[in-house]
Amino acid sequence: MDLSSYASPAAIIETVASQLACSPVDKEVAVQLDEEDELKHLRACFHIPRVKDLPPTNLALVHKNETCVYFAGNSLGLQPKKVKTYLDEELDKWAKLGVHGHFTGKRPWALGDECIVELVADIVGAHKEEVALMNGLTVNLHLLMLSFFKPTADRYKILLEAKAFPSDHYAVESQLQFHGLDMESSMLMIEPQEGEETLRTEDILAVIEKEGDSIAIILFSGVQYYTGQLFDIPRITKAGQEKGCFVGFDLAHAVGNVELHLHEWGVDFACWCSYKYLNSGAGGLAGAFIHEKHSQTVKPTLVGWWGHDFKTRFLMENKLQLSPGINGFRLSNPSILLVCALHASLEVFGQTTMKLLRRKSILLTGYLEYLIKHYYSEDTNDPEQPFVRIITPSQIEERGCQLTLVFSVPIKDIFKELEKRGVAVSNQGFALLYLTKIVGCVIILELLLFTAA
Ligand SMILES: *Cc1c(COP(=O)(O)O)cnc(C)c1O
Repeated sequence: MDLSSYASPAAIIETVASQLACSPVDKEVAVQLDEEDELKHLRACFHIPRVKDLPPTNLALVHKNETCVYFAGNSLGLQPKKVKTYLDEELDKWAKLGVHGHFTGKRPWALGDECIVELVADIVGAHKEEVALMNGLTVNLHLLMLSFFKPTADRYKILLEAKAFPSDHYAVESQLQFHGLDMESSMLMIEPQEGEETLRTEDILAVIEKEGDSIAIILFSGVQYYTGQLFDIPRITKAGQEKGCFVGFDLAHAVGNVELHLHEWGVDFACWCSYKYLNSGAGGLAGAFIHEKHSQTVKPTLVGWWGHDFKTRFLMENKLQLSPGINGFRLSNPSILLVCALHASLEVFGQTTMKLLRRKSILLTGYLEYLIKHYYSEDTNDPEQPFVRIITPSQIEERGCQLTLVFSVPIKDIFKELEKRGVAVSNQGFALLYLTKIVGCVIILELLLFTAA
């Protein structure tokens, strides 16, 4: 991915500091960067919890009306304010029109998913026909594997990360079992090198080169949920396909976080959930992608009426006219309530571009990294001094907006002190939201300083 057009965060921070004649770690820098932030108005599109409402907050330590510093967007995105409006619209329609709601109004229920699919296609860099919104993530992963994983005597392995998200690990395990395959020889898991946390692209490519002839499917995450590593999707895809493998990605932590060009990269298939960076609410409507090149050849293994071509679906003739590509994989009519929540979030994304969001995210993440390094680098001369190690890659092309931190002091204490002050963190890392103000980085560092010092 070419990120050469993005200036280095450290350079921006130091330039601003020198213009203000202050230190790069002074709060003035954060205030100035917030001032210049062209996307700052988008923060107002979300409900941001108040510290006083978060269960573990110690009210003696916070200002009552302050909003929390939300670092948990990698786990559950915040609620867009329009969600309630859109839900009300459809609930009113249901109350007034009953079954007529299927084909009338702003979001005809029978076309609910299709009303918003284009907005999602833009975010993942796909054509509208290559994307379907349906089910949950793990369900979609299974449906895709049921069609792409057709093991033969010579080609029967699935290559994945050793520390894949548990649901992906189990999905692969059960697919192999379903085909009666031996786990030991067919589940190929790639581990980081001794003493390292993240995978090197050259090591991934070397495994593909060596084992590719017997690999049926390569399944990686886009952004690793634990380390925050962004994989080189186009290179892994190309290398796998040159060996005759299908290459698929679980984009749960990549969608809405980094720029994606699934069509251009030629990725065979992908799936994602929408409740993390896409802010659709717990259990939101998931997505799936199959590249156009497979639209006539890769068919769903399991079929339902929603995969039947819309034009004749309701004739009920029981003569299947399957929609091409991923659209034929849809089984059931979509939940309009889930469509509403996702729609509200996608409209916020629609006010900007992934390119601009990524630019802000790189600066925000780089700024936090800058401050952490400043205050908490390991000091070999003073072994008593607490320190923080960042296991997420430092190269911006190898990460999204998550930083995963390892502390030299017990994490439980840090976690507790942060939560007492209304900082929402997930125990997987600190994912900076676009809607987090840069000033938030300073607050969190002050807190870390407080706890660890
Ligand atoms: C969040 C996440 C899941 C969760 O799966 P659901 O089916 O949405 O419950 C699965 N895989 C990855 C990689 C995730 O990050």
